[in-house]
Amino acid sequence: MFATLSDRLAETFKNLRGKGRLSEADIDATAREIRIALLEADVALPVVKEFVAAVKERARGEEVSQALNPAQQVVKIVNDELVTILGGETRRLRYAKSGPTVIMLAGLQGAGKTTLAAKLALWLKEQGKSPLLVAADLQRPNAVQQLQVNGDKVGVPVFAPEPGNGVGDPVGVARASLEEAKRKLYDVVVVDTAGRLGVDADMMAQAAAIRDAVEPDEVLFVVDAMIGQDALTTAQAFLDGVGYDGVVLTKLDGDARGGAALSIRQVTGKPVMFASSGEKMTDFDVFHPDRMASRILDMGDVLTLIEQAEKAFDQDQALKAAQKLTGQGGEFTLDDFLEQMQQIKKLGSMTKILKMLPGAGQIREQLENFDEREIDRVEAVIRSMTPAERENPKIIDGSRRARIAKGSGRTVADVNSLVDRFFEARKMMMQMAKGGGFGGVPGMPG
Ligand code: GDP
Repeated sequence: MFATLSDRLAETFKNLRGKGRLSEADIDATAREIRIALLEADVALPVVKEFVAAVKERARGEEVSQALNPAQQVVKIVNDELVTILGGETRRLRYAKSGPTVIMLAGLQGAGKTTLAAKLALWLKEQGKSPLLVAADLQRPNAVQQLQVNGDKVGVPVFAPEPGNGVGDPVGVARASLEEAKRKLYDVVVVDTAGRLGVDADMMAQAAAIRDAVEPDEVLFVVDAMIGQDALTTAQAFLDGVGYDGVVLTKLDGDARGGAALSIRQVTGKPVMFASSGEKMTDFDVFHPDRMASRILDMGDVLTLIEQAEKAFDQDQALKAAQKLTGQGGEFTLDDFLEQMQQIKKLGSMTKILKMLPGAGQIREQLENFDEREIDRVEAVIRSMTPAERENPKIIDGSRRARIAKGSGRTVADVNSLVDRFFEARKMMMQMAKGGGFGGVPGMPG
């Protein structure tokens, strides 16, 4: 996500390194580079202009700071301005004060609405809500069935027209779903509506009719981030035709440039509220402008990582491991290592986790080539060890290594490398635990 922009900006900041103060020429050159970076990222021209002007103005007026050198000051300014164009504060979902909250989704066909409806429902469930999905997309063949399949995946019921009822009436379905929600005490209703391949007057009229029938608390415009600036034209058409409160960006995983994400707020005046970044039901999150800016600047998205970790991690186990690493409660063993790996697997793919860490941009290529099966291989090797070996890896001598290799279907070299890496990692983790963290602000040029 945003790979080109991140690289470009990193290059810009690198050129400022070691400067004692910023001259007018430095500021101009930097502004020019940022302009090119944003244009290459397919950001809308008016947004680029506004952004560059703001950065320039602030860079000129910047007080001489004790804490930050000029390069860092520019990073900070760019970060602040990115947060601003991405919408500033995180815009959270508004729930109805009484009765079920109604969320209506609108957008073109293929934008990812149906997938998103289920992801949103899962997220709502995690927030302690009891959602009902509503299939009011009666246009696209299979849309109802697709919502039912996705609803099953996340364990959320789907309200749909009775089969065999012909084409059906989406407004009627939407209206009836509210009655159903009240009757069965669902507290959030997510209405999926029909899209078309392009902007179309009938589609707008239908969405508007559904809107009038269910009076949503939130209308969310769902848009595929991969279509770049086309997203902005579509966004404007839906704003005029249906109106909405917030935007959901989908397919951010396939969006290397980020133009739509960076422009849509300024162009429509509506906040991005959620982002969808993959085919899995859990590839979905609240959109945080500040975290997204850090990610673009490769300062890492540590907050999101921590949040996801909190969800997946077993607190007791994590505490135990932390104690062992700080020298309390026995030594950190291969069993602990295995258990930690299990926890990491619960978080999803290793590449995804690593990408959220500060400095990930610098090892992008390695990350892209990371073989997820590596974790399974390591697991296989550890599982072929005896409990005594896992407890005290120092006893793993030559003949034990040969046996473990055979048992796990790996080579002796694989076993050697794992054992070496384990000792190295343990040493590093203990140092880190003792030193009280990573120190310094990562991603900031010195
Ligand atoms: P709808 O026509 O708006 O309901 O769109 P769908 O939900 O059917 O999605 C269209 C296609 O995009 C499907 O193949 C989805 O699997 C895919 N899709 C949806 N969201 C994402 C996403 O965040 N990332 C990726 N890579 N694919 C997605």
